[in-house]
Amino acid sequence: MLNADLHCHSHVSDGTLAPAEVAARAKANGVELWALTDHDETGGIAEARAAAQSLALPYVTGVEISVTWAGKTIHIVGLRIDETEAALLKGLANTRNGREPRARDMAERLAALGIADAFDGAMKYAGNPDLLSRTHFARYLVEIGRGESIQDVFKNYLIEGKPGYVPHRWSHLKDAVRWIRDAGGTAIVAHPGRYKLSDMAFDEFINEFKQSGGTGIEVITGSHTPDQYDTYAKVARRYGLLASRGSDFHGSDESRVDIGTLPPLPSDLQPVWHDWVV
Ligand code: AMP
Ligand code: MN
Ligand code: MN
Ligand code: MN
Repeated sequence: MLNADLHCHSHVSDGTLAPAEVAARAKANGVELWALTDHDETGGIAEARAAAQSLALPYVTGVEISVTWAGKTIHIVGLRIDETEAALLKGLANTRNGREPRARDMAERLAALGIADAFDGAMKYAGNPDLLSRTHFARYLVEIGRGESIQDVFKNYLIEGKPGYVPHRWSHLKDAVRWIRDAGGTAIVAHPGRYKLSDMAFDEFINEFKQSGGTGIEVITGSHTPDQYDTYAKVARRYGLLASRGSDFHGSDESRVDIGTLPPLPSDLQPVWHDWVV
């Protein structure tokens, strides 16, 4: 089975490495098909593609789009997109636009807890000022001693229900899938095990995703436990979805799973790359 890693991040979103450094790490780890999938942003693609080419690392373009569906935040990965497609670029720009006001609100909530200057503190860690993320706030909170680790400060400050969390409306599911499809890409549900949906809501979600033109789901991801590999392999079979694999690597100090080191997809599943020529 091909060592494909089709989900990871650079400092163009909330990763810690430059796109070319992520490419080098993928190559060093034996990855045979690679995609960089920064959040809501295609700005790292040119560097990623050039680096992959110089390393003879088979590469496809990618993005991870933030979506709000039934009040929940869901991530949709788009692969093999034409990153110059106008509607995709406009949609992503609109998705990113909400980030700065949201970050200002987050900083205000943190200030009310006695944490000053969180906006500037987070911005220091952002490789891309248009893509200020909760991860950047988490790095600042660790820096000032509000927790031992990124996971720690997420748990205590930044997840839903915690004082630094600001509810946010991302893009619509149908729009995100359409931008990906109209840019020639394949739309994939990222880390399905992370969403706390009832069985009924999950079924409704997958049906709407498929009706919108989505065709794939991540089965083997850094966000899943081995039990969840089985659960979502069954989901892929039941709904006739293509299966994807990706570490969701953000950086060596922050990610549990390194690029290209996850187990292979179950061999009966149809990989998303089954008919790609790269
Ligand atoms: P945002 O798009 O700004 O809401 O940030 C989402 C990002 O935060 C995700 O892509 C992850 O990188 C990170 N993240 C979300 N939840 C957690 C968590 N519980 N622990 C660590 N990182 C998390
Ligand atoms: Mn992230
Ligand atoms: Mn994600
Ligand atoms: Mn991701």
